[in-house]
Amino acid sequence: MAQDPRPKSKPAPRPVHKTPQAPRQRAATPAEQALSWAHSARFFITAARIDQLPFNELPEIAFVGRSNAGKSTAINTLGQQRQLAYASKMPGRTQHINLFHLGPREAPNQVWADLPGYGYAAVERSAKLRWQDVMARYLEVRRSLSAVVQMVDSRHGFTELDLQLLQFVAPRVQTGEVKLLVLLTKADKLNRKEGAEALRQAQAALGEMASEDADIGVTLFSGLNKTGVGDVAQILQGWAASPEDALRIAQERQALKEAQEGQEPLADDEGTLGADVDEG
Ligand code: GDP
Repeated sequence: MAQDPRPKSKPAPRPVHKTPQAPRQRAATPAEQALSWAHSARFFITAARIDQLPFNELPEIAFVGRSNAGKSTAINTLGQQRQLAYASKMPGRTQHINLFHLGPREAPNQVWADLPGYGYAAVERSAKLRWQDVMARYLEVRRSLSAVVQMVDSRHGFTELDLQLLQFVAPRVQTGEVKLLVLLTKADKLNRKEGAEALRQAQAALGEMASEDADIGVTLFSGLNKTGVGDVAQILQGWAASPEDALRIAQERQALKEAQEGQEPLADDEGTLGADVDEG
């Protein structure tokens, strides 16, 4: 058999099927999803008095805590924004109530209310009484109040003032109308055993408020090492309005705004009462 004189050519390399593939997309975990939702937090309005707060149909979550308990850090950590709770630290604004919107821009599904910190030693008596009055009224009567998130320093546990504050809202917690979540902050400063003990003590203190209908939770939290952050974001997201409700509320709000714009401007003491609004 004659040999083929042609130089043996190497067999052509088999095409390797190499369709460029996007890196496999891992589905976001529930915590990641919740954190992405919490990241949507944006400033909505600040008010010096409760009667300046806008009527709100969305679930409103009030953040409360002693000055220095870590409330601003918790809000900033949850929202993953360094300056989200910045306004509440501004001189002259420390007694204000700051509201934030969460969820889709066109149809927010939750409101966070950053309430004035309490227990600051240097505040004079009249300011303390005023605080008490503001907080009591807000916690007792604010209709949209859906939950209270209370920051308590994990190294100190509940103080007298913390418990006093809870008394204002206890009747609504017991009926289940208002949920309660306690964040034991700065948990990075405790070792595992101390953390477990702080949790146990807080649970015992909250036991007195428990009832069949109450929704009360307590968790260790740290803005520094992020303990509890994903869990808390998930709990908060679970309290958001449904997409249908959020859309309906947004539409009603828009219709009201348009109706108001068609009217004569309201006198200053009848309208927004000087509350600063940022529609973002
Ligand atoms: P607020 O007055 O309740 O708003 O408290 P801040 O958020 O301003 O925090 C008060 C102080 O506690 C600041 O010095 C914070 O840096 C510190 N702090 C807040 N959260 C944490 C935390 O999770 N870990 C640690 N180690 N320090 C914290």
